[in-house]
Amino acid sequence: MQHDVMHRRTGTHKQQMGPGHETEMADAPVISRLAVIGAGLIGGSVARAAKASGAAKTVVVTDSSPEARKRVREIGGNFADEVAETSAEAVKDADLVVIAVPVGACGEVAREISDHLKPGAILSDVGSVKTSVARDMAPFVPKGVHFIPAHPVAGTENSGPDAGFAELFVNRWCILTPVEGTDPAAIEKLKAFWEMLGARVEAMTPEHHDLVLAITSHLPHLIAYTIVGTADELGEVTESEVLKFSAGGFRDFTRIAASDPTMWRDVFLHNKDAVLEMLGTFMEDLTRLTRAMRRGDGDALFEHFTRTRAIRRGIVNIGQDSAAPDFGRQHGPLPIAPIARPYASDDD
Ligand code: NAP
Repeated sequence: MQHDVMHRRTGTHKQQMGPGHETEMADAPVISRLAVIGAGLIGGSVARAAKASGAAKTVVVTDSSPEARKRVREIGGNFADEVAETSAEAVKDADLVVIAVPVGACGEVAREISDHLKPGAILSDVGSVKTSVARDMAPFVPKGVHFIPAHPVAGTENSGPDAGFAELFVNRWCILTPVEGTDPAAIEKLKAFWEMLGARVEAMTPEHHDLVLAITSHLPHLIAYTIVGTADELGEVTESEVLKFSAGGFRDFTRIAASDPTMWRDVFLHNKDAVLEMLGTFMEDLTRLTRAMRRGDGDALFEHFTRTRAIRRGIVNIGQDSAAPDFGRQHGPLPIAPIARPYASDDD
């Protein structure tokens, strides 16, 4: 279903992809040879989406982990046409290189591939932080290579080569943060690539990106990591009750707090200033709500919760989440036996 959406956005024709699996393919690839470094959730999704949409003619993937490279080979053609042993080997002759490793490793990967990039190639990444990644990678970008940092604002709590899927970016935003003076044709090409993957594309400065993402993504993750840790400490007191009654809001925090530890360690280390700034504002607001509660100021609480409910509805209205109750989770059938109604009469 999501796949249909992916191709409706891009102007496509149909093509047979194996027994019984008709899918739609793009008219012309934007990229002749795509290299993806890092075969995890995001790199794996970029590679799969480039294959499924036809955005790239050839996709070569590499990863520092031998197990990950082995797994990509096993998954085969839906993931990559070729698996390279090293990053330097992967980028050879590539028109677009996408670095999809934790943000703390982006500079090191840029150093490894620097001498092997093709003149005229586009070098990009998918890191969740932009200012530090741009700063770490820029010194290794050779003259004649177009460096355009990017961040697809899409993900799940899973990681590794099996976590990715082609539809991850459909109807999600991809933010480009090109520096001034970047070749507009290269920006257009990268934009067209992400649009073929189903994404909507917007450009902004790396600093603005980091501030926006600090409040929309990084701070919520910090809160989730904190609250799940706090509940775990309480769990020792109340034994299994924290797990047993986790169907409340806590369950949604546990999903976010299951996100990859390496990735999130790097995000908080590399977007420290923006997250600390947002955290300061958050603490002030929390203090205001705490005071309202202590003083029994129901109007203040009601007004605040009404405002936040409107924000949630706005997110649903612009298609960034499902309107289905409980995030669309399946709840299973009712028990077969009627639920006991102790006070009902026989003819009720
Ligand atoms: P992931 O599933 O853990 O994948 C990262 C992969 O990169 C791992 O296989 C890792 O191998 C490999 N790697 C690490 N260092 C490397 C190096 N120096 N050279 C080659 N490969 C290397 O992580 P992910 O979620 O895809 O995140 C990748 C990037 O996407 C991060 O920068 C993150 O900020 C960004 N991002 C993530 C999300 C999300 O929701 N997860 C959303 C948007 C953007 P090992 O496991 O052996 O270290």
